[in-house]
Amino acid sequence: MPELPEVENICRFLKKKIVKKQISSVSVRLNKVVKNSSYAFIRYLKDKSVSDVFRRGKFIIIGLSAKYYLITHLKISGQLLYLSKKEPVAKHTHVIFNFKNTEYQLRFKDVRQFGYMYIIKSTELEGFLASKIGPDFPDLRYKDFKAIISSRKRIIKSLLLDQKLFSGIGNIYANEALFKAGVHPAASSSSLTQEQIKKLYSAINSILSEAIRMGGSSVDDYILPDTSLGSFQNKHKVYQKEGGKCPRCSAIIERVKQNGRSSWFCPHCQK
Ligand SMILES: [Zn+2]
Repeated sequence: MPELPEVENICRFLKKKIVKKQISSVSVRLNKVVKNSSYAFIRYLKDKSVSDVFRRGKFIIIGLSAKYYLITHLKISGQLLYLSKKEPVAKHTHVIFNFKNTEYQLRFKDVRQFGYMYIIKSTELEGFLASKIGPDFPDLRYKDFKAIISSRKRIIKSLLLDQKLFSGIGNIYANEALFKAGVHPAASSSSLTQEQIKKLYSAINSILSEAIRMGGSSVDDYILPDTSLGSFQNKHKVYQKEGGKCPRCSAIIERVKQNGRSSWFCPHCQK
């Protein structure tokens, strides 16, 4: 599932390509991925110009002229592709946007069909986001991070994944940050020392910014809109590395299941 660095890269790519472009037509090939009625969705979008593309948490938000936003969540396997009309339309492409004066199309493809698109009025955006996600991680101050962690008695790994507390972190970056900070994924949040909370905060920030710079992690279905790959997967230390050696101490990396999600960790470095 694309996380903050992947979604950020998709937004930066699209911002360069589609801002100021005018939508000429939209075709919805699978109604269930659109949360408005397809009729209303197409009617809202037609002839609108794109004013901005930005991210909040894992949401991709496209500003449209005249008071609307198109919100996309890619969930497990969604992809936004920006390709020439000449490129064959792949199976599982559910929505296609055409723009004036270009042969390029924006395509929403999603094999698993958990992703969705939704148009809301600009006045509804903040309320919508507030109902779904907490503060975006790069904007979160240390003092607020610390308060969230130490006031709760929860397994630290699940707490990091809770989008209502911090938005944007998923399984890849939670595992990598816990390793970097030397914190066991099953530790109770209330048991972390001030030192550990500090290390975790700086680990998350440095990993997210490095991953953004490297185009995100191309594991599973994540690709950029032009189908190129990110490269931060080459920097993963523990994620999906069960049985491999810890790059720090050479102990064997283990995997545990927590709430149905796998966690990978070094039993020696993460106490
Ligand atoms: Zn180790």
